[in-house]
Amino acid sequence: MSLDQIKSRIAKAEIAAGRAPGAVTLIAVSKVQPNERVAEVLEQGHRCFGENRVQEAAGKWPDFMLRFEGVDLHLIGPLQTNKVRQAMELCHAIHSVDRPKLAKVLARLAQDLGHCPDLFIQVNTGEEDQKAGILPGDADVFITECQALDLPIKGLMCIPPVTEESSVHFVHLAKIAIRNGLQGLSMGMSSDFEVAIAQGATHVRVGSAIFGARGH
Ligand SMILES: *Cc1c(COP(=O)(O)O)cnc(C)c1O
Repeated sequence: MSLDQIKSRIAKAEIAAGRAPGAVTLIAVSKVQPNERVAEVLEQGHRCFGENRVQEAAGKWPDFMLRFEGVDLHLIGPLQTNKVRQAMELCHAIHSVDRPKLAKVLARLAQDLGHCPDLFIQVNTGEEDQKAGILPGDADVFITECQALDLPIKGLMCIPPVTEESSVHFVHLAKIAIRNGLQGLSMGMSSDFEVAIAQGATHVRVGSAIFGARGH
């Protein structure tokens, strides 16, 4: 599917959900995609992209940022503490804040660097062992801890279990956000972004539907 088709599906979903036009930010997830495909999407004027590994992002985005102005890069994958500085220097948002140790490192480096990307706290709404994210039962305390560290927490992020109805998880995430006074909701991927928009997503992370399957 083309970028334009995804954008028009987002616009329709916004209207259907009674959301303001443009309420939803499309993050084009470019991980593992060939650079020519990413360049095509940049040439179509799109500027907001997502990567799930710092190393991969650092390998390709500095070049693109020289060629194209106004790139808005979002880190959507797990972040190790030894890569935080690099991530903060490269990315405009980080969607995977998920543990106190990482929050402390972000806070210290934000002081050092004098700036901090927008942050989203990842919640493991499915309570899956293999998945990153703070458990829902620990989310309120963790959000408060992050705010006490002066971190710019913009919202929450989740990746629902593949075997479950994602809408249940989106509703759950939205509830946690509302009771903590957070506006941002990073939820919805290629297969369910319209469902996520109906449940209040402010950021959808769409990869394969724009770029095609990630082949190997
Ligand atoms: C890869 C990835 C996506 C995009 O997935 P698609 O199904 O290709 O749209 C979204 N979010 C995260 C965290 C990802 O790692």
